[in-house]
This record gives sequence, C-alpha cells and structure tokens, in this order.
Amino acid sequence: MSSVTCQGCSASWDAALVPCCPRCLVAAWMATERFVRPKHDPAELPGRSERYRSVLTQDFVARQHSYLEYAATHGTWYYDTFYEMYVHLTPSPLGRSPGVGIPPGKVMPEHALDSLLIVEADSASEAHAFAVDATQHAAQVQAGEFEELNGCAAPGCDNLSVPGGAHCVTHTTHEAPGGP
Ligand SMILES: [Zn+2]
Ligand SMILES: [Zn+2]
Repeated sequence: MSSVTCQGCSASWDAALVPCCPRCLVAAWMATERFVRPKHDPAELPGRSERYRSVLTQDFVARQHSYLEYAATHGTWYYDTFYEMYVHLTPSPLGRSPGVGIPPGKVMPEHALDSLLIVEADSASEAHAFAVDATQHAAQVQAGEFEELNGCAAPGCDNLSVPGGAHCVTHTTHEAPGGP
C-alpha cells in the first residue's frame, strides 16, 4: 500500500497496485478520438470479415465512462512484446462481458468475450478498446507475449513503474532531467 496524490487532479490512489492516476487515465481515454474503432463497433453489425474479430457490446458503448472508471482502478498494465506497446487488461469490467467474437467469414457474433483490452493504452491519440478472452490472455502472458510492469527501480519502493519508465510516478517526478 502506497498512497500517492496526483499532481494534476489531486486524486489519491495506491501506486503499488495502479501505476498512474486512474482519474486522469479515464479522462485521457474518454478524450481519445476513435477509442471505439469501426471494426469493433456494434453499430457496424451485421458485417462480414474474412478474419476473426471482436465487437464491443452496446452496453459498453452506452456506458463507456462507467466501464473505463472500473477499468482504470481494477485493470492491469502489460507490455506487448510482439507489437511493442503498452496494453491494459480488465477482466469482467462492471461484472459484465464487454464484447463478443465473430468467427472468420461470419456476419454476427457467436460467443461472449469476458475481458476489456485497451491497446496503446498510454497513447493520447492511439488508445482504443476491444474485447478478449481472459483465459487466452493468461496463456499469452505465460508464453511471454505480454509482460507485467516492473516495480519501481528506486531502492525500497514498492510501487509499480509507470508504463515506459523505470520508476514509479513519485520517483519519476523527482528524477533529475537528463539523469545522473
Ligand atoms: Zn490525476
Ligand atoms: Zn518509486
């Protein structure tokens, strides 16, 4: 437990569990254009695709802010070693399935997906959401396709490092520009 206070919005949170301010993260995601892209938009159904794809639920689109508030406080950051970007996974956001899967060549969903994945989750311009299967994601973590965030490099600090950094939000703030 390490409570920190956001210098931007004054919210407090536990930086040992969540690396950066959840309130600011939700604000950034909500402000991102094309956060729900056509490929994953339920408004585009029915629609055929030659490749497997996932589509978000109408409920997710209608209550996106509530889902993202839940995700920002309950989800986990990973580094995607294949696509070389940060992603953010939330199993059962608001206790629901946030999306459905459409098999290749089909026009309508055939199974529920239990987790919300936000890719390029630290990008103010590129972050976007889709739905995945938690069991499959866990297998990908086992296989090394996703890596959890490291702890802060500062001695004795239990906080998570911020995405893309070696230190937690507190020690990043105190880092001297240009390093040692
Ligand atoms: Zn904040
Ligand atoms: Zn630290």
